[in-house]
Amino acid sequence: MDSVPGEKRPPTSVTVIGGGLAGISAACELADLGFQVSLLEKRPFLGGRTFSYYEKEIGVDIDNGQHVFMKCCASYIALLKKLDVWEKMSVQSDLRVPVINDGKTSYISSVTLPGPLHLLPSLLTYNHLSFIEKLAVCSTMLKIMRTNWQDDQDLDSISFHAWLKQHKQSYRAITNLWNLIILPTCNETAEHVSAGQAIMVIKVGFLASRHGTDIGYSKVGLSRLLADEAQRYIEGRGGSVVFGAELKAFNFEGDTLIDIELKNGEKVRSDYFVSALQFENLREILPPNILATDYFSPISNLKSSPIVNVHLWFDKKVTDFEFAAYLGSDVQWVFNKSAILGLKDEGQYLVITISGAHTLVETNKDELLARVVTDLQRLIPATKLANLKQSRIVKELGATFTPAPGAAKLRPTARTPFTNLALAGEWTATGWPSTMESATLSGKAAAQAIVELSKNP
Ligand SMILES: Cc1cc2nc3c(=O)[nH]c(=O)nc-3n(C[C@H](O)[C@H](O)[C@H](O)COP(=O)(O)OP(=O)(O)OC[C@H]3O[C@@H](n4cnc5c(N)ncnc54)[C@H](O)[C@@H]3O)c2cc1C
Repeated sequence: MDSVPGEKRPPTSVTVIGGGLAGISAACELADLGFQVSLLEKRPFLGGRTFSYYEKEIGVDIDNGQHVFMKCCASYIALLKKLDVWEKMSVQSDLRVPVINDGKTSYISSVTLPGPLHLLPSLLTYNHLSFIEKLAVCSTMLKIMRTNWQDDQDLDSISFHAWLKQHKQSYRAITNLWNLIILPTCNETAEHVSAGQAIMVIKVGFLASRHGTDIGYSKVGLSRLLADEAQRYIEGRGGSVVFGAELKAFNFEGDTLIDIELKNGEKVRSDYFVSALQFENLREILPPNILATDYFSPISNLKSSPIVNVHLWFDKKVTDFEFAAYLGSDVQWVFNKSAILGLKDEGQYLVITISGAHTLVETNKDELLARVVTDLQRLIPATKLANLKQSRIVKELGATFTPAPGAAKLRPTARTPFTNLALAGEWTATGWPSTMESATLSGKAAAQAIVELSKNP
């Protein structure tokens, strides 16, 4: 309908479904652009896979998983700043990671040299590799610098492990260095990650700039980091956030999404929609004929990978590290949560993070705890002299999508073939592995797709 001159047209409405970082990022971006945003979330809180709960018995916030970012995560950092929560983060001024193997500590750290040279001194003094292995690693890093993962389709079809073998990397270099980078960032070892994804992570995350590698994390429980601020941000721009709103069905007519239906039977109409659900949810909810389309059908082949976090409270201080990586053990990373959260009590709260934990998610919790504690006594002998007061185990089965060989082709773009639907979610085609950066970028891309659709309906 044509508007009458002087009449104020109502703002264009967008319903964003899913209140994880992707949905939050899309909703904030669209609210900034003047859209009337409604963010629907099935749970009673925002944050999605980044959340914490208050453990009354212990009196502390427990994260569903220790979340770490690097300074190369520009979109995630921009979102934190937009929501005015940057002060809640602790960020290194220069990368420094203690890596411990058989009781020997070596540091991966950066120095005052432009990228990629900032890592060279620590690679050359990294004592978990022989001199020859270090030279081979440096030459492979140079090869990675020169590789264009975006244009080379072959890199998506082979594993990073196979690519490293082609580049003469030893078993020890793969386990003691390459997997140290790839397992926590891609949530799988080099064998299960495509060469393209791994090369992207190393190039963008580790080699591009001196400070891109600096590590940061939240000083508060994840649900206290940005959830309330995001809600206020959206509501402050005329939008709304609805909890307990579980999407049950999409109703398409031709190339348009007419409305969506919630579990409580309510139908929601809006000019535009953004789906910011996990791919597993989307697969279940999409009508079969829509899931079978060329655009959506590849997501049927996407897979996910688990992460296990073991939370331990000791009655004494057992380590001075704020965090450290351990080689040759189930205990991959130890985070000193007492230091991170600024806890003042006498004991120490540690979190053990285990990525790609396929076998451990199936191990029962008592056995898993015993295994981790025994390992920890070997890795941090002071734990033998301390009493374990409390423990909690959080298993996240579908923690991340798996960036396996072939996965890049399965990730859809933000713009769908439908006239009023865009897609977000860390698993969409951002180029990044499953990270907070990927989620945030995907939200921005979905908002951009809505802008384009609204200009060219
Ligand atoms: C244990 C763990 C550790 C991790 N560690 C890191 C890390 O160190 N660094 C890093 O960068 N990333 C890490 N990640 C990955 C990161 O958390 C995710 O990539 C990111 O949070 C995904 O955000 P998202 O918004 O795309 O998806 P989600 O956060 O999954 O958001 C989807 C939202 O949709 C909602 N939803 C689902 N179904 C419906 C429905 N039917 N109706 C309405 N709403 C629905 C869900 O409740 C959820 O809020 C980790 C993840 C886990 C689980």
